[in-house]
Parts: sequence; C-alpha cells; structure tokens
Amino acid sequence: MAQLGGTPVFIMKEGTERQRGRDAMSNNIAAAIVIAEAVRTSLGPRGMDKMLVDQFGDVVITNDGATILKEIDVQHPAAKMMVEVAKTQDSEVGDGTTTSVILAGELLKRAKKLIEQKIHPTVITEGFRKAAEKAVEILDNISIKSGIDDKEGLKNAAMTCMSSKIVSESKEKLAQICMDAILAVAEKSENGKWVADIEKVQIQKKEGDSIDDTSLIKGIILDKEVVSPGMPKSIRDAKILLLQSAIEIEKTEFDTKLQITSPDQIQQFLDEEEHMLRTMTEKIANSGANVVICQKGIDDMAQHFLTKAGITAVRRVKKSDIEKLAKATGGAIFTNLDDITSDKLGWAGLVEERKIMNDSWIFIEECKDPKSVVILIRGGTELIIDEVERAIHDSLCVVRDVVEDQKLVGGGGAPEIEVAIQLRKYASTLGGREQLAVEIFADSLDIIPKTLAENAGLDQIDTLMKLRAAHQKGNKFAGTDLDTGDVVIDMAKIGVVEPTVVKVQAIKSSTEATSMILRIDDVIASARSAGPPGGMPPGMGGMPPGMGGMGGGMGGMPPMDY
Ligand code: ADP
Ligand code: MG
Repeated sequence: MAQLGGTPVFIMKEGTERQRGRDAMSNNIAAAIVIAEAVRTSLGPRGMDKMLVDQFGDVVITNDGATILKEIDVQHPAAKMMVEVAKTQDSEVGDGTTTSVILAGELLKRAKKLIEQKIHPTVITEGFRKAAEKAVEILDNISIKSGIDDKEGLKNAAMTCMSSKIVSESKEKLAQICMDAILAVAEKSENGKWVADIEKVQIQKKEGDSIDDTSLIKGIILDKEVVSPGMPKSIRDAKILLLQSAIEIEKTEFDTKLQITSPDQIQQFLDEEEHMLRTMTEKIANSGANVVICQKGIDDMAQHFLTKAGITAVRRVKKSDIEKLAKATGGAIFTNLDDITSDKLGWAGLVEERKIMNDSWIFIEECKDPKSVVILIRGGTELIIDEVERAIHDSLCVVRDVVEDQKLVGGGGAPEIEVAIQLRKYASTLGGREQLAVEIFADSLDIIPKTLAENAGLDQIDTLMKLRAAHQKGNKFAGTDLDTGDVVIDMAKIGVVEPTVVKVQAIKSSTEATSMILRIDDVIASARSAGPPGGMPPGMGGMPPGMGGMGGGMGGMPPMDY
C-alpha cells in the first residue's frame, strides 16, 4: 500500500512481503554464504564427505559439490541461485562445482565489505565483470597444450578429478577406463575439431565384487538372459536379427468361439499352430541369423525350434536397447519376418551370456561400430556404486573437456594464485573504485588454495605466502601436493592437472551469480496460498519480523544510501 494524495493505493495482494535496499542485499548475501560454507569442507583430495538423508530416509554419501547441493532442499531464493551455480558448472564442464560455489561465496563476502564502504553494487559488478574477463585471458595464457593425442595429460586430468572423491584409492584404474571410453566415442567433426559425447558411454551398475572390478566393455550389455537354457550361451561371429515383432501366433482382437466336434479337430488345430511357428523360425534360420534379439515375446514352441536350429534368442528387450544395438551392430530393425535378408543382419564378434552375481546378462562385444562402449560399475554396496558413478561422470566430463578444448592447467590452487597475482597487476592499471573491485576479485581467488590447505590441516596463511613467493619467481604452476603434503611443488610436473575450461567456467558461473545477487535491492515475495503464514520461505535467513505485509510499511523502508 502506498499513499497518493492521502488516498491509500493497494499495489500488491495482501500478505505480500517485501524487503528492500541494504536489508534485502545483506539477507541475500548471508544466505548465499551459508551455501558456500556448507560445501567448503569438502573441497579437494583431503576434503570431508557429507551424508545426506532425504525425507524418505534414503541416504547418499558424497563429496561431490553438485550432488550435495542437489540433495539439500534449499528454500531461500538467493541460496537457490548458488545451487544454480553448481548446476551450471556441472552441466557445462562436469567438474569444479565446489570450487565455483566457494568462489561465489567469497566474492559476495568481500563485495559486502565494499558495499559497507558505500561503493555502489553496480560499480562492484562492473569491476567483477572486467576481472573475470581478464582472468579467463590469463588462464588461457598460462595453459599447457593438450588434446586427444596427449594420453598422459588426459589420464592425469582424469586422475586429478578422481583424487578428490571417496573412490580415490582406485583412481588409476577408473581414470584409465574413463579415458579409454572417451577415446572410443570421440569423433572428428567437419571443422576438424574433436568432439566426444559422454551420453554415448553407457553406464551399467551391479552390486558385488569391488570397485577394482569395474570394467570397460566395448559393446553393449543387456540385463536379460537367453530365453531358453538349451540355447548356446556363447556365440562367436554373431549374425544378429533385431526384431520388433513377437515370434508368436497373433491373438485375435475379439473373443472367438471354436466349435470342436471331434478329438481330430483339436489335433488339427494344434498341428496348424505348430506349422505356423515352424515356418516363422525357418524364416529366421534361412536368413543365416544365429542370434535373435526380440522386443516382444517368443512362444515356447518357437523357442524349441530355435534351440534345435542352434539359434540363441533374447526376448522382451527394451526398444531403446534395440535401437542402440542397431547402431552398434549395423543391423536393420525388422517388424516382419518376411522382410529379413541376410545382408541386413547386425554383426558382432561375440555374443555371450555371463553371470554377474545372481543375474545373467548378455554381452554383445566387438561390434561393427567400435564407438559403443559400456562401463560396468562394480562395488560392495549401492552407496559406493552410486559414488563411483558420480566420480566416473565427472572424470568422463574432464577427459571430454580436454579432448575438445585441448588445454590444461596445473591444479592444487596453482592457477588461482597465478591469476590473482596477475589480476592485482591489472587492477593497478585501472584506478578508481573499479580497481578496488578487481582487487577483491583477486583476493577472493585465494580462497581456493587456502581452503585446500585448511582441509588438509595445513596452515592457510603460511601456505599462501609460500605459494605466492614461488609464483613471483615465475613458477606459474606452484601449488600444494595434497597427496604428499609438499607445500610448494610444480603441479604440472607431478601430473596434477585440470582442464582449463573447468577453471574458466568456475570463474564465469560464480561471477554471474554474484553479480545477479548484488544487483537485487528488492525482494517481493507473494503470499503463499498454502503453508505456514508469513509468506517468505522458511529456512536460511528469512524475512526479519516486522517486515510482513505492505500496510503502511513503505514510509519506514531503509533509504538507498550508496
Ligand atoms: P570441485 O567440485 O571443485 O571439483 P573437488 O573436491 O573435486 O572440488 O576438488 C578439486 C580441487 O582439488 C582442485 O582445485 C584440484 O586442483 C585439487 N586437487 C586434486 N588433486 C589434488 C592433489 N593431489 N593435490 C592438490 N590438489 C589437488
Ligand atoms: Mg572435482
């Protein structure tokens, strides 16, 4: 409600809550910082893990930033923006989620101090934008050239990514698998650039054995078994018929009544059915197929005939799997047995049923198209397998990033320190209030090496000073090796490397979110139709009491005094 010549004007629905100016901003910043704090302890190879329990009591144990934030039910709008930072980072480059959120939190923390010194938020966001642009340029300049031929670089990047995961003990083996998988699916596009689609890497999970039994299968896995025990379980030089229709006698759509007057007629009827099924299976056998993968059912009698013909069959396979098989084996998908021709059958070097724990699965290997690969994840419990899957996802992304972008930087806080030092030099060329913003941007970057050190039980300031000194001497990849505890070491030399795009994206996504949060000076929350009274979502830093409603409150709003 506002006043216009003494007449109250109702602008918003009753119950709408509003928060303006400083209050809105400090509230938003506080909420965002809470999120950054929540993931801080999980950064790096010495980071701690989180156990998350959802409303149904399901447990997730992880130290993957994106997963932690996805699982916690955040209510505050500014906190939600921080969750978005992690999501963007995850979908764009697949790694560096914790880094980007911690960085955003630190940028906000330091921006708040400048705002308290009466520097306008738009000056700060403009300074941040310039600093981010420059930081990306610096990262590009210090990068090492890599790419699809740099097997060592690819594997090292995958290993670095794995080393901050719960499954890091098996990082060598898992990194190799991720690299091989990406190399298998990578393709050279028309413009000569390499691209790798991680969607092409199929993931299958099976509880049992240990993480080290995780393997890469060049082909496809079906979680089905051979339809009849008499059929061959292992077929070399497999000629595969992909069938979308059933190998059964079609039932009529209506109820039909058959008047049978003598036992002969029953026999005749059955003979006819047998004859039809025999003809169907003969058509298959005549095509030269020795494996049938069927989307629908296969009649018992047909199974018998197929077994006699030495043909292996699998039934009720998912449509999507049949389509994948068509691509992998180069075979056509048939809907009518009369259309089958031998040249349109798929081919694979080996089709085999194997027992994994209590289940039998069909492995179709050495396919015509070598780009089909599956990672079969093994591990003692479901919790472990899920974490292995997340680690593999991140590593696949990291290898893809390097294959596509062809650039690496050292890890362990090295790039952040280097960029910070160069940014401070850049800031001095700017002058004015913008210089302050660029300087605090540089200071914010130090949070990464500081947090890595803190999580490993090292002295933050001491580590930072030693690293800075090394960088000043020209060692651009001086960082802390948290595997050995060596405080100053050339990270690239010891193979702790990360894709440049991961660092670039972390800077971009954190700067974007920070700027967005800093520009908000008005939070208007509609009254919620259901739920607790008070309108503003509960949780981190809600609306302070007394702000509720619009009635007469406008006059008392804090002035905007930047
Ligand atoms: P994010 O979600 O940001 O990827 P992580 O928990 O995966 O967070 O930690 C990544 C950080 O850990 C990076 O800065 C990376 O350089 C660092 N790191 C990984 N392995 C090592 C190592 N052996 N020594 C030092 N730092 C490492
Ligand atoms: Mg990581």
